Amino acid sequence: MSDLAKTTRMTRQKKLILEILRGTNTHPTADWVYEQARKVIPDISLGTIYRNLGHLKATGEIMELSYGSTFSRYDGNPQNHYHFVCKRCGRVLDLDLPVLNELEEQVARRTSLQVTGHRMEFYGYCRECCREEKEES
Ligand code: ZN
Ligand code: MN
Repeated sequence: MSDLAKTTRMTRQKKLILEILRGTNTHPTADWVYEQARKVIPDISLGTIYRNLGHLKATGEIMELSYGSTFSRYDGNPQNHYHFVCKRCGRVLDLDLPVLNELEEQVARRTSLQVTGHRMEFYGYCRECCREEKEES
């Protein structure tokens, strides 16, 4: 393959992965992105997916949400926003809340640390899980 063909292929793969992430609000895993990408580029590899997710994260085009021992989830919206994580089904929901930048100032003032950002997550049970719980009991 010529260098140009390689570059074109890489650009196409990266664009596709970005489109997949921007087209969902489910905060998918790399495996899910891989399954979607394969529908468009059948011979794409999981390694390529991970490599591109890494690049997109490094350039600030996407966010990686890591939850301890479980798989990372990816978010096509790189702007700071808050999430709700369901402890039962693992759903990650976007919360429509204003970002509390004043918290960063407070931390900086109280600690004289240089604060460059913050993440906030809420935990609990989603609507679907609350409904199922009621039906089961
Ligand atoms: Zn749930
Ligand atoms: Mn999100």
